[in-house]
Amino acid sequence: MRLRDKTILVTAAGQGIGKASALACAREGASVIATDINPALLAQLAEESDGLVTRVLDVRDSAAVGRLAAELPALDGLFNCAGYVHNGTVLACDEEAWDFSFDLNVKGAYRVIRAVLPAMLEKMDRHGSAGSIVNMASMASSIKGFPNRFVYGASKAAVIGMTKAIAADFAKTGLRCNALCPGTVDTPSLRERIASAPDPQQAEKDFIARQPLGRLATVDDISPQVVYLLSDESRFVTGQAVLVDGGVTI
Ligand code: NAD
Repeated sequence: MRLRDKTILVTAAGQGIGKASALACAREGASVIATDINPALLAQLAEESDGLVTRVLDVRDSAAVGRLAAELPALDGLFNCAGYVHNGTVLACDEEAWDFSFDLNVKGAYRVIRAVLPAMLEKMDRHGSAGSIVNMASMASSIKGFPNRFVYGASKAAVIGMTKAIAADFAKTGLRCNALCPGTVDTPSLRERIASAPDPQQAEKDFIARQPLGRLATVDDISPQVVYLLSDESRFVTGQAVLVDGGVTI
């Protein structure tokens, strides 16, 4: 039980990496608050596990984030997983697309952190306990450039910058903040990206070919890293962009 006695909030827990991580945290003994914008996905999640509570949360809605933070117990851990993959170069990214990606991928995490951090710090101070924030970035970011990932890469690079700034500002309190940078992971939204390619079969082959370990990651390749970063096992790790990329950046 690596997360026993920890209260952990996960955003975008309705499917994909967020869901697998919420379930993994619950299995490791955490009290998990699993949130997502999509109530139907949360209802399905609640059926799969009675070890967590679910709450509808749109991380783009500041008021809703504030309301949820006010009614939650103080957190020990936060996994900001919500994000969106825009496909295209700078020429395919108008200002609306830019604003949407930054609002969801970067400002969404900022909103949640700003809302929950005061109570987290107060709890850490009171109990001498540890706190950990994990922000979802990507290897497509300041780590590596990929074709057609213009605003996605820019926004995920911002997530890494935000993570390092928070790590630097709060290290002395014991709060740790790390960014997770997965390679290509087989999730519902990846399947949509593959299906919408001009040649879906080739698109899947191309995604696999760029990962030297020879396959797409599964969500269960990523969730153990989330558990580790939220647990006290990673107590000396902060400000890092942690790669789980199947060897893409060797
Ligand atoms: P996904 O894209 O399949 O699912 C996204 C989830 O986010 C859905 O449950 C959806 O309802 C929820 N969501 C959408 N808008 C939201 C909002 N405004 N507020 C709250 N929830 C919202 O999941 P995924 O592919 O596992 O991606 C999760 C995260 O991992 C994203 O940040 C993504 O950028 C990142 N990531 C994914 C991959 C990959 O290959 N799949 C690789 C690297 C990083």
